[in-house]
Amino acid sequence: MERRKEIELSENAEQILKARYLKKNGDGELIETPEEMFYRVARNIAEANQKYDEPVEPAAQKFYDVMTALEFLPNSPTLMNADNDLQQLSACFVLPVEDSMEDIFEAIKNAALIHKSGGGTGFSFSRLRPRDDRVRSTGGVASGPVSFMHVFDAATDTVKQGGKRRGANMGVLRVDHPDIREFISCKEDEDELNNFNISVALTENFMKAVESGGTYELINPRTEEAVASENAREIFEMVVERAHGNGEPGIIFLDRINEDNPTPALGDIESTNPCGEQPLLPYEACNLGSINLSRMVKGEPGQAGIDYDKLEETTRTAVRFLDNVIDMNEFPLAEIEEMVRGNRKIGLGVMGYSDMLLKLGLPYDSKPAVNTAREIMEFIRETARSESHRLAEKRGPFPNYQDSIYDKPYRNATTTTIAPTGSISILADTSSGIEPIFALCYERNVLDDTLIEVHPVFKEMAEKRGILSDELIDSLTGRNSIQDMEKIPRDIRDIFVTAHDISPEWHVRTQAAFQENVDNAVSKTVNFRNDATIDDVREVYRLAYELGCKGVTIYRDGSRSEQVLTTDDSQ
Ligand code: ADP
Repeated sequence: MERRKEIELSENAEQILKARYLKKNGDGELIETPEEMFYRVARNIAEANQKYDEPVEPAAQKFYDVMTALEFLPNSPTLMNADNDLQQLSACFVLPVEDSMEDIFEAIKNAALIHKSGGGTGFSFSRLRPRDDRVRSTGGVASGPVSFMHVFDAATDTVKQGGKRRGANMGVLRVDHPDIREFISCKEDEDELNNFNISVALTENFMKAVESGGTYELINPRTEEAVASENAREIFEMVVERAHGNGEPGIIFLDRINEDNPTPALGDIESTNPCGEQPLLPYEACNLGSINLSRMVKGEPGQAGIDYDKLEETTRTAVRFLDNVIDMNEFPLAEIEEMVRGNRKIGLGVMGYSDMLLKLGLPYDSKPAVNTAREIMEFIRETARSESHRLAEKRGPFPNYQDSIYDKPYRNATTTTIAPTGSISILADTSSGIEPIFALCYERNVLDDTLIEVHPVFKEMAEKRGILSDELIDSLTGRNSIQDMEKIPRDIRDIFVTAHDISPEWHVRTQAAFQENVDNAVSKTVNFRNDATIDDVREVYRLAYELGCKGVTIYRDGSRSEQVLTTDDSQ
């Protein structure tokens, strides 16, 4: 295999690699370079080709080339665990929580095993009987979903993922569960349930009742009987107010998610993974990977365009990589193995979207940008499906294909997902997922030094226009917007919009444009300014529903003293 001498790693990437990804010996000393890490992963994942009598070497070379060029990276567990003792390569899991003490604690045990191996877990608590309901065996009363969530939370706290990262959970409750009010406000106190993101699962029936101003029924899952009714607008308002308060809960549109369930015969989807981008059946897992869009651009600034040939090639390589991961994966539970090998879901997405727009000279909050998002994702989905179809012809369709919604054989029940890329975007030194940039100038503490880093595309443009100076860099530091800096030409300010400048509406339009061409879902935080009102939040929920999003997560600047459960919480 031809090895690359230099990989363009930023200081930050080097640090995070050392802390979390590179192999260490028993004394905690590094025994691997970044280049060796990519070699280890490429070789290991290419080995799956043997199973199908396909040559290993050329696949290993391609996998190695796209990773070391930082054009494509798989999710963190693949980088950390390939060819390591664990060999657990997936980021996303959903576990069932059934309504019995045995089953609840079984789920906690299984979650601990998954966290230990670097994965995140999602649960629906909707099957649990409500608080104060009857418990026949003890003659007592039930404590309800929220109190059990605290047990899951405490267990997660205790299991450090091999010292690499803390576990992450998603907790979902259907809006027609009798404990819905308690659930909506269960994270009102910032110190509670820190290892959970929570989402209310909204049904079509509920959304209709919100629209008409009507009521809907609350159902006890144990008896399947209606036990009360609620005013839909009142519950909706409660969600909006809490989200305005500190970003939680998020919402998911459950029926819409199930409309896209590729294997309805195997059951309903009840939950997503922790960051919301991957709806899964109970006991299902998915491995993700992301293409770095900022490296899919050709041409000089001013005449730059998307390099579709390169994007096609990278997408095809990425699909083969992710399909191989399923064969090389060792799953923490037999049930998960069976489900994953039956559906073979993969989640290919993107990172560096915002950096790509800057290179193309398109403001994030503009129609041309949103159209580009739609086009690029359509291209990726079509190419990914075409490659999955090719793989099906060579390797066979996913085993549950007969029970699926597809009339054409695919190797994978789903191919596309937009992940947050919290860690891998740092490795690739690009903007995360499809989020906008937050600033043009960052202060970074590297060892004992504070380094000032200027956004590379801005730096290049400012240099060309002859305005780059130490003074300019000084005046940029600590700013979250350059819109009022008159010494920067207007056309540059128009392109370099930050999260602070972008209205929530454009966040939703961007999310929706990607969602149109994504099989699974899209991880996105709709950012609001601190002074945003409850009406603003409600309007975003309405728009997200109207535009076909599968869920919404919002965050109002400064509404939490510290951002808990970020995807990169290793420090
Ligand atoms: P990465 O950049 O490390 O590949 P992402 O930020 O894209 O990961 O997150 C993808 C998914 O990985 C999340 O939705 C979640 O399922 C899982 N994940 C992320 N961070 C953690 C964590 N600290 N613990 C457990 N799972 C995590």
